[in-house]
Amino acid sequence: MSIVETQEHQDLRASVAALGRRHGRAFDRDTLWSEAGKLGHLGVNLPEEYGGGGGGLAELSIVLEELGAAGCPLLLMVVSPAICGTVIARFGTEEQKREWLPGLADGSRTMAFGITEPDAGSNSHRITTTARRADDADGGGWILNGRKVFVSGVDITDATLIVGRTEDARTGSLKPCLFIVPRDAPGFHRSQIDMELQAVEKQFELVMDDVRLPAGALVGDEDAGLLQLFAGLNPERVMTAAFALGMARHALDKAVDYAKTRQVWKQPIGAHQAIAHPLAQAHIEIELARLMTRKAAYLYDSGDDAAAGEAANMAKYAAAEACVRAVDQAVHTLGGNGLTREYGLASLITASRVARIAPVSREMILNYISHQSLGLPKSY
Ligand SMILES: Cc1cc2nc3c(=O)[nH]c(=O)nc-3n(C[C@H](O)[C@H](O)[C@H](O)COP(=O)(O)OP(=O)(O)OC[C@H]3O[C@@H](n4cnc5c(N)ncnc54)[C@H](O)[C@@H]3O)c2cc1C
Repeated sequence: MSIVETQEHQDLRASVAALGRRHGRAFDRDTLWSEAGKLGHLGVNLPEEYGGGGGGLAELSIVLEELGAAGCPLLLMVVSPAICGTVIARFGTEEQKREWLPGLADGSRTMAFGITEPDAGSNSHRITTTARRADDADGGGWILNGRKVFVSGVDITDATLIVGRTEDARTGSLKPCLFIVPRDAPGFHRSQIDMELQAVEKQFELVMDDVRLPAGALVGDEDAGLLQLFAGLNPERVMTAAFALGMARHALDKAVDYAKTRQVWKQPIGAHQAIAHPLAQAHIEIELARLMTRKAAYLYDSGDDAAAGEAANMAKYAAAEACVRAVDQAVHTLGGNGLTREYGLASLITASRVARIAPVSREMILNYISHQSLGLPKSY
């Protein structure tokens, strides 16, 4: 990995930034999604033989960051091409790849991702959504039961990749497994959660009540569940970092513009160090987090899953913290205008907190680094 971005990556940034500028903050999600798909931006990480761009997370994270910087982030990119596309491309059956990857790549089909459960929360070892094999006499396949919460975009996606468990026939222990559940499968109920967050993608609580699935709904191998799951979770972290970085850059740009022009005492407010220094600090923190995000994407794309795990957690942590601080300072820089709808910054206070909480909270990352990187004992 070079410290200087390749010409190819710079060109991709420029092209996505131009697309983002054309759409801006008042973007229509469906139009932007379909345009980005046609330009090959949504499937830039997926294999060429299935209609993708043949790149990796390095490229996909550039797309999301630049759209966010232009004020039009596509949150669904974190789940549809990044988690679901990656998991299917790496572990799906040939049939699943042919059925899903071309559509995920050109954006004509989308997939949500459901792991969080109300009673398990951050402790995903406690998830209880369970799939049992249906009797052959009864048509075979799987029967899925359980509950999920905060799952994004279930109303607009064609299916949801659900993390469940299957019972090991020999030991009786539960193994994590991934199932593709079509949006309108009988027994798959969703109800929208009333969030304060202003975003085009909504969050849902899901109830799976004897959802009948064909044998082919199980992604990949029943015995490789955990490995497959982590193959999807690291991209999710890197993409959340890119999402946070885009938002942070968007907020900082607005604040810097404002600080250059707003005059209260004969000179622009940006001349006061109390305004300038926190903005400079935000800029430094964003740049540091961008470097870490590129490192995490590079490690993942090189196939080093173990090193990518630590780097993806660090990148998500650094980008989320940089984002929360940049947004906070941007709002403050605009004074009263920071809270008007016209400037569109106040709603980012809530949005920036998403990056601190999801998909894994700040504290769980600190736990991971304490235990995995520093070898400290666990408190739980
Ligand atoms: C906008 C949004 C979109 C989301 N989209 C999706 C999605 O598409 N799919 C999906 O599956 N999920 C999604 N989530 C869920 C998200 O991943 C969870 O909210 C997150 O993992 C935290 O789980 P929790 O909300 O149950 O918090 P909890 O686990 O209840 O944690 C609450 C607080 O306690 C802290 N805490 C918990 N355990 C420890 C510990 N051991 N040590 C220290 N602190 C601890 C946490 O850090 C947190 O601050 C989304 C959430 C939001 C807000």
